[in-house]
Amino acid sequence: MQWGRLDIAGAFSRRRTAADSVVRDPATGAVVGYIPSMPAEAVEAAIEAAHNAFAEWSAVASPKRARLLRRLSQLIGDHTDDLAELLTAEQGKPLAEARAEIGSAAAYFDFFADEARRLNGEIIASSRADSRILVSHKPIGVVAAITPWNFPASMVARKVAPAIAAGCPVILKPAPQTPLSALAMAVLARQAGLPDGVLQVVTGDAASIGTLLTHDPRIGFLSFTGSTATGRLLYAQCAGTIKKLGLELGGHASFIVLPDADLDKAAAAAAAAKFRNSGQTCVCPNRFFVHEAVYAGFLERFLAHVDRLVPGDGRDPKSTLAPLIDEPALAKVERHVADAIARGAQLTRGGRRAAIGGTWYEATVLEGVDQTMLVSCEETFGPVAAISSFTDPDDVRAMVNASSYGLAGYIWGRDIATLLKTAESLDLGMVGINAVHLGMEMAPIGGVKQSGLGREGGHAGILEYCEQQYLLVGV
Ligand code: ADP
Repeated sequence: MQWGRLDIAGAFSRRRTAADSVVRDPATGAVVGYIPSMPAEAVEAAIEAAHNAFAEWSAVASPKRARLLRRLSQLIGDHTDDLAELLTAEQGKPLAEARAEIGSAAAYFDFFADEARRLNGEIIASSRADSRILVSHKPIGVVAAITPWNFPASMVARKVAPAIAAGCPVILKPAPQTPLSALAMAVLARQAGLPDGVLQVVTGDAASIGTLLTHDPRIGFLSFTGSTATGRLLYAQCAGTIKKLGLELGGHASFIVLPDADLDKAAAAAAAAKFRNSGQTCVCPNRFFVHEAVYAGFLERFLAHVDRLVPGDGRDPKSTLAPLIDEPALAKVERHVADAIARGAQLTRGGRRAAIGGTWYEATVLEGVDQTMLVSCEETFGPVAAISSFTDPDDVRAMVNASSYGLAGYIWGRDIATLLKTAESLDLGMVGINAVHLGMEMAPIGGVKQSGLGREGGHAGILEYCEQQYLLVGV
């Protein structure tokens, strides 16, 4: 099959057969493609094929693994426009955001091509003169990767690239709403020369596939990005086989504006981080804490950005606000806004479905938010900025750290000592200091508390897919 100039024969179908499920464009409702609902036997066969591929793939010399990954990165980069259009068609985000995401996916494969060659071990000074201690990193085995719908390409690359670089075959289960980018990248991986069984995509009933993957002793690692509820379930399911897990779960980021912040930059960054993908990102700020001395100045600037947002079809270059992924996502946003207003928040902008219909929700700003409101406790995953003012930074620290989530946060100010000390006092895996857009291939992405386990990206990202082996050598 062709998608633009992209030859992705076998990735998905334009015609339905009996067992297929449909992928729809969230902007138009149109069918983008059909994917198979694979029966248990097909998932079992994928596990067996990955298991069989492990010995050979893990023994491939690292420069060759690196070459294949770099070729895949190159292919993804060469097809950026078509892959971005496919991503927008299944996910809805504006094309400019989709292009940036494809660039990020290519960057992950490129970065981990290099990391494949840096799995260096260690010689540790022994306490006994007649022995040496050698430590090496060995690939953990077959990896199962379960990915979400909000970043259908980069979340896949962030898992697949380090696993394959480490020498682990991957079975990938993408989100049912957005499997096509994953399927297209798997076809490109074949074109790059990846051997059979090293990257397989399974689609179908999530719970049944999840049960098979988590219970199978042939799978050594489960990498999951998604909701905390599903992560908790998968964690429990992995207990039987004592599987190692990487979990990137929900977030509830705070955006803190200190009195000495550069308000122009802070407001622009706040809007960019909040409304990217219509707020459907796990690191986007949910709560905004603005010092009362700069509250009015920040708000005025922030609203100017909000007022420029244009809801629309992602293929229209004027569109800057994506539709929500589906009706349940829209219903959750409506529930959060209604709850905040009922508890006394002021609605400053938006607060309803956008006039263009579909699953668009207006860019929304709530003021006077307190910590009892749903927007302050749960991830809204929509274009809603919940703002409150503060006088004492200690109160903000307490509110941030009271959350069961600990993924990301942002602080804006000028005094470097205050910024550093504040960042260090927050129970968060990642803090942007005068910066947003935390996801970079060389950085360790991940959260603490109920936001997850482990790190993706950077050197830590490849080590996740390895086990240390300690050799004590008598001499
Ligand atoms: P969301 O509610 O935002 O879709 P989920 O955590 O449910 O978040 O979904 C993230 C990924 O987890 C998707 O690929 C989804 O299909 C998958 N998933 C959902 N439930 C299960 C499950 N019981 N077992 C395995 N995977 C699951």
